[in-house]
Amino acid sequence: MSEMRGEAVIVGAGLVGSLLAIFLRQRGMSVHVFEKRPDMRKRSVDGGRSINLIVTSRGLAALERVGLREAVLAITVPVYGRMIHDLQGGQVYQSYSKDDTQCNYSVSRSELNALLLEHAERAGATLHFECVLERVDVVSGELVFGDRVVRAEQIFATDGAGSAVRRSLVEQAYVTERVEFLSHGYKELLIPAAEEGRDGLDLRALHIWPRGEHMLMALPNQDGSMTATLYLANEGPLSFAALDTKEAVLGYFLRYFPDVVAQIPTLVASFQANPVGLLGTVYSGPWHVGDRVLLLGDAAHGIVPFFGQGMNCGFEDCLCLDDLMEEMQEQPRARLFEAFTQERKPNGDAIAALALENFVEMRDKVGDQGFLLQKAVEGLLGRMFPTLYLSRYSMVTHSLIPYRWAQQAGEIQQAILRELCAGIERVEQVDLQRAEELLREKLLPFWQAHQIALA
Ligand SMILES: Cc1cc2nc3c(=O)[nH]c(=O)nc-3n(C[C@H](O)[C@H](O)[C@H](O)COP(=O)(O)OP(=O)(O)OC[C@H]3O[C@@H](n4cnc5c(N)ncnc54)[C@H](O)[C@@H]3O)c2cc1C
Repeated sequence: MSEMRGEAVIVGAGLVGSLLAIFLRQRGMSVHVFEKRPDMRKRSVDGGRSINLIVTSRGLAALERVGLREAVLAITVPVYGRMIHDLQGGQVYQSYSKDDTQCNYSVSRSELNALLLEHAERAGATLHFECVLERVDVVSGELVFGDRVVRAEQIFATDGAGSAVRRSLVEQAYVTERVEFLSHGYKELLIPAAEEGRDGLDLRALHIWPRGEHMLMALPNQDGSMTATLYLANEGPLSFAALDTKEAVLGYFLRYFPDVVAQIPTLVASFQANPVGLLGTVYSGPWHVGDRVLLLGDAAHGIVPFFGQGMNCGFEDCLCLDDLMEEMQEQPRARLFEAFTQERKPNGDAIAALALENFVEMRDKVGDQGFLLQKAVEGLLGRMFPTLYLSRYSMVTHSLIPYRWAQQAGEIQQAILRELCAGIERVEQVDLQRAEELLREKLLPFWQAHQIALA
């Protein structure tokens, strides 16, 4: 058995674990990271498929703290708004900001992970690959990786939504968990870069094909290709299970996403080859056990991906832990871990709920007239009253306002929007005087109570 006195062990070198290793090294701790998979810098872990995700303000703030913001931005593609595709092939663009200045960043998951691993190693973390954690003993601090047993004083669990550390803590009755699976799963498909002369998709946008109970989304990659993700029920008449023949797959795409068919030459073969991923929300707690174990990232709060916040939230966990380490240097570690749980758990619960709500919004509403009117009025309020109104989307994605406050302010804003949109059909008809009254009466006290000053 290896004894790791005074050293931190991180289980899981995914996105959050590798960033956490950098944070802990910058605090002078000695860090060992144990990862189930082989070293992704040496061979492709996702079989060459390009899976991408969106980095937003919270992720960028954490990367900035460790000096990696620019290095990460260099491997991203900026995305300035949503392009909504209707059944007839028509497209409507919705910008993320009033003047197209704010954007999100699309990045390849494996490239980002490799970059973070590289920097963790350079910062002095010791990385151990192909070590599958089986169980943790809280009392002794023993971690069992097959034949290899390690003993550590502090253990950081970043081993993802199916966390083996969390499972072990549940078995020892320190933590409770509930995992709620969505009835929908997802499948990724690569849309190759458009050849010269062929019209491709706008590479500055997140593309959405909302179709009620199912939807397709696509995000750009640096090489001009796009990664499309189909979200569809797992079972039932319109489901992954029902698309069990080549004819069924082609018929489905021709019916619901006809403009995509020509963009993916290997559509049917790729559809049949690529796996269906599960989606769900992990509710667990507490996120620490004494001064021994802390859960972060998806291991604590796996969420559905419809706000593009899972990783961003996990990166913000690292930022929060770093802040607390600074503030609580003289305090026992158990207090630090407890303070982390108290601060992050309500925020984790809030983003979990918001992500589920966004699933419905993206799937059913982005093409709906009433919804589009509310979005237009919301855009107008943001432009006319920038010190009073910030959309919930912007709070979550482009600010560092805690998720729980974004959720609460969002509810107040929703009630205001409903009132302003009642009985009107066009954004020009909105009563701006009434709007300002409502914002001052209902929203301003919220900002003041939480000491939030909008730009
Ligand atoms: C389709 C989809 C789209 C998404 N899009 C976005 C997005 O746009 N923006 C965003 O912010 N988030 C997005 N997410 C969420 C994001 O992927 C996760 O929140 C993020 O990967 C969590 O990082 P993590 O490091 O906590 O967990 P993971 O990335 O799951 O990493 C866990 C690591 O632990 C390792 N591990 C697991 N078990 C063990 C074990 N027993 N022993 C040792 N190691 C182990 C794994 O191999 C892995 O390396 C998306 C998720 C999905 C499914």
